[in-house]
Amino acid sequence: MAEKKSPKKLSKAGCAKVTDALMKEYPDAGCALDFGTKFQLLAAVVLSAQTTDVSVNKVTPALFAEAPDAAAMARMDEARIAELIHSIGMYRTKAKNLKALSQALEDRFGGEVPGNMEDLVSLPGVGRKTANVVLAEAFGEQRIAVDTHVFRLANRIGLTDEGDVLKTEEALMKAIPRDLWTPMHHALIWHGRRVCSARKPACGGCCLSEICLKKGLK
Ligand code: SF4
Repeated sequence: MAEKKSPKKLSKAGCAKVTDALMKEYPDAGCALDFGTKFQLLAAVVLSAQTTDVSVNKVTPALFAEAPDAAAMARMDEARIAELIHSIGMYRTKAKNLKALSQALEDRFGGEVPGNMEDLVSLPGVGRKTANVVLAEAFGEQRIAVDTHVFRLANRIGLTDEGDVLKTEEALMKAIPRDLWTPMHHALIWHGRRVCSARKPACGGCCLSEICLKKGLK
């Protein structure tokens, strides 16, 4: 007899159950980066690429004390920016991007962070994920920024069955009610950090263990 194939994706009802369970588990999940202004949020998100938010929060107080806005950061020596952020990964590239990004904000947007995707991704070092975080946190839009945790969990759980980040974002927007896009983005990240890590997912104590498809784990 032919072996029954495992589903690759949860039904609409299954996605709703996952959403309910994660919203109950992480009702207060939010952005873990420290910032005071839209510019500082954008800078912190750029710094957070392939680095933990905790490490970024350790370097931003001194960085923002010297360069609180785009004008000050654009005037700063790239070497000084690098010195202030040297404890985080790819600090040289990030210092270069921060300076260029700040200069572009000064030259093209009067020093202000633009509130739309097209302008944001035109800035040096700013990709779609960073732009989505800024639009969600600084402009209050409902957005699903797909980082490494969101991509892994969405496809592992079965909310989506996609091979790339953009398609995962589009599929999540269909699987999750619009008013929960930003909260679910945070809940998936928190769940990825606390329970469903890349190497050792703790399925035994997971609130999703009865619903999750556990793709790639069996
Ligand atoms: S059941 Fe396992 S694979 Fe699924 S979300 Fe929980 S920890 Fe991750």
